[in-house]
Amino acid sequence: MRCPHCSHPIAPQKTFCERCGFSDAHLAAYLGTEWVRLERITDAAHCLRLEESRQLEVHLDDFERQFPQSFLALYFGALPPKLNPLELGMWLLNHGAFSTHQFAKRNDFGAVCVIDPLAGRHGIALGYALDPLIPTPQVETLLSDMVTPLRLSRWAEAADLVIASLSSVLRDHGKASHRRIDTPPPPSRGGSPADFGLAPLRAGHRKADPERTPSRRA
Ligand SMILES: [Zn+2]
Repeated sequence: MRCPHCSHPIAPQKTFCERCGFSDAHLAAYLGTEWVRLERITDAAHCLRLEESRQLEVHLDDFERQFPQSFLALYFGALPPKLNPLELGMWLLNHGAFSTHQFAKRNDFGAVCVIDPLAGRHGIALGYALDPLIPTPQVETLLSDMVTPLRLSRWAEAADLVIASLSSVLRDHGKASHRRIDTPPPPSRGGSPADFGLAPLRAGHRKADPERTPSRRA
């Protein structure tokens, strides 16, 4: 992954950036270590119209239907000057309890897009499992594609670009990422993912064969 502060590559086993010294501890010192509950769309800046918000919810639903193990959250809000959107996104992935579907997903498979409408800054943080699947140049292209709609205050349009772009990349990686999952999600009170018609995350635990329909007892 890359350092959210200076973009310098950080090796997977390193817990801090060798260039600027950034670490999760820095963010924790600034934002705290408490978990926060978040909806998939947080519009702290009140920049979305109700209709846009609903439309984005529909698109996020589509995204999660295509990639049941993953989720995307959108945060619109004014950030303190010291904090950049990527840093907040990373902190949210580490400390956010996102209301996605009816069960808890692992934030490793999540992405958070942070848009600061006032400062005109935006960033996309990817969970540790998602990060290797999404090439950096693709993220950079997406971020630059978002600039025009953001300048025109078309916040929902910019968010839709994120949904479309991540969908496109993940579609290519779908099967591969599915097989990489080797641990189940945290237990949910409501039941198992299968109860909600989603692909079980522990499929990789036992030999997964996506071509084959599981046999059922009559
Ligand atoms: Zn750094």
